[in-house]
Amino acid sequence: MSRIDLLARLETARAAREEAGLLRRLRTVDAREGALRRIGERTLVDFCSNDYLGLADHPDLVAALTAAAGRDGVGSGAAHLVSGHHREHAALEEQLADWTGRERALLFSTGVMANLGAMQALLGAGNVAARGASVCVQDRLNHASLIDGALLAGSRLQRYAHGDVDDAMRALRAEPDRGALLATDGVFSMDGDVAPLRELAGICRDEGAVLYVDDAHGLGVLGPRGAGSLAEAGLSQADAPLLMGTLGKALGCAGAFVAGPAAMIDGIVQFARTYIYTTAMPPALAAATRVALTIARNDTEGRRKRLGIHIARFRAGAEALGLPVMPSRTAIQPLLLGDPEFAMKAATRLEDRGYLVTAIRPPTVPAGSARLRVTLSAAHEADQIDGLLEALNAAIGAHP
Ligand code: PMP
Repeated sequence: MSRIDLLARLETARAAREEAGLLRRLRTVDAREGALRRIGERTLVDFCSNDYLGLADHPDLVAALTAAAGRDGVGSGAAHLVSGHHREHAALEEQLADWTGRERALLFSTGVMANLGAMQALLGAGNVAARGASVCVQDRLNHASLIDGALLAGSRLQRYAHGDVDDAMRALRAEPDRGALLATDGVFSMDGDVAPLRELAGICRDEGAVLYVDDAHGLGVLGPRGAGSLAEAGLSQADAPLLMGTLGKALGCAGAFVAGPAAMIDGIVQFARTYIYTTAMPPALAAATRVALTIARNDTEGRRKRLGIHIARFRAGAEALGLPVMPSRTAIQPLLLGDPEFAMKAATRLEDRGYLVTAIRPPTVPAGSARLRVTLSAAHEADQIDGLLEALNAAIGAHP
């Protein structure tokens, strides 16, 4: 028999990755407080989380979670469409729709599931016969879950050069007969730059394509009242119908949502398998997220402003030191190093000095573009940022 041994094949692939110095490793945080993480005996300042507003351990969120768990228990017990949809979920959905200026919002348990489910419903309508009838045009640097969503839907995937509106237009025009969805990150997760949303909305309008924006890293950070990159670009639901946001980043909780016209959202309810077949997020988490949303939206504690000041401080300091920053004005401030081994070494040197920054290597980023992905948070203190800059200078300053 010539059957392929899957385990052996996996072991070979893993060994090749190790050989290339690209093995991913897991670390366990023993305790956290603000931006500090205790890992074993050491306490490090975390410069790689997506807790941009520092809400993850906010006492009001913790109190809301605890109180709601006391009332409603921990697990939701079922999928939304069975008996898992609690009034806390419904209330959060209403608040999310209101915040983002969309007709309706639909909760998902994670952002990956939101993208997989929404794309599968929109592009394939959950229907095998619809496979191949759509084209999904995507920025080359989109999050993996957007790419996977298009593949899962059996849609024709066309990727365009990063941020290149003309290339996106070419891709749309090449497929005039298929239903078309153009998907882009609002803020690119590994580069921190913002998509040219106004221009993309324009070509979608001209070419009759639906625009889908994954604003995982823009929501809470950009735009008036933190409503995200679409709000910042002045794009309403009429210009950019579908917005996906995550709740585990600036909002400091977990989960995600897709917001848009009510009819489209109801279509997603009908066909998104990652919505239909999974347990609803704990209602207590929805209760905590509502508190986070109110804090983020009203910014009564000045967290967004503080983050903005930190971003400016980091960039000014890094530029003065000649560090290889990328063109980003968001909380994601990567330093482009190129060589994955050097990026790993730099991360280890930073860790030795008390700073936690992950090295991002291929295949997460394109070959030759390994980097340190520094992320800033309102939870940081100015002197921690200054300390990081000093440590970065020592760790990579001498690098050409
Ligand atoms: N989209 C983007 C752009 C992301 O960066 C992430 C998180 N890495 C996700 C989606 C997935 O979100 P979640 O972590 O909630 O699954």
